[in-house]
Formats: sequence, structure tokens, C-alpha cells
Amino acid sequence: MMTGWLHDQFWNHGDFRWWEIVGWLGNFVFFARFFVQWYATERKKQVVVPTAFWWLSLAGSLLLLAYALFSHSKPDKPNWVFVFSYAFTWIPYVRNLIIHRRHRAAHMDCPGCGAICPPQSNFCPACGTRLQAAPVVQASGK
Ligand SMILES: [Zn+2]
Repeated sequence: MMTGWLHDQFWNHGDFRWWEIVGWLGNFVFFARFFVQWYATERKKQVVVPTAFWWLSLAGSLLLLAYALFSHSKPDKPNWVFVFSYAFTWIPYVRNLIIHRRHRAAHMDCPGCGAICPPQSNFCPACGTRLQAAPVVQASGK
């Protein structure tokens, strides 16, 4: 069953579909960038985007663009390259939004100027107002 699907993916009436290799390679590169970004973000507990993410994005999107332009997919079947491109991308998007929210919630608002100050800071870096150490629970309501 799986080998039949795999065979159909790369062979069409005896012709090897070279562009499928490009498409899946593009998917792989495009997908890998999320692990790079995710790893960096989980390590810092803050949403960060390493430079490698943009390089992988560039390479992956060029490969997928070439695939979209030059592969002539079968009209009666779903295009699995593009299905895969979008099937899992929402997972890191949601995870990043959660981490961003948590990171923001851990920060303190300056009562003087309203600036968002890093957790545990004693003074506002923007205006110098003394900040009282707010309990973490109180800040998380925002
Ligand atoms: Zn301030």
C-alpha cells in the first residue's frame, strides 16, 4: 500500500518524475527550519529566529517555487508535496505564540512610563522608576 503510493509519487507511466525529488527536498529544507527555530526558542524560553532559519527559508522556498513552476502534477490526485508543506506548519506557529505570551506575561509593566521591563528587574530601564517585585501569579493575568 505504502510502496504503491510511493511508487505513484515518483513514477508516472514509466517516467521517473525528477521534479518530485526537488519538491520533497524543498519540503525537507522548509520543514527543517522549524526545528532550528524551535530549538533556539525552547532554549531561550523566548521567541528567537536564528539566521539559519532565514537561509533555510530561502533555500526551501526557491526549491518549492521551482517545483510549483516546472512539475506538472497529475490533475486527478492531490499534490502531496504541497499537502505536506502545509500539514504541520501550524504546530510551530502555535508553539511560538504560546512562548511569546508566556515571555510577555513574565515581564513587568513600569508604573511610571508603562514600559515592559524584564522579569526580576528592580528599576525600569526606560525611566528609572523603582519597581516592586511583583509576584509571578499577578503578572500572568495579562
Ligand atoms: Zn518606566
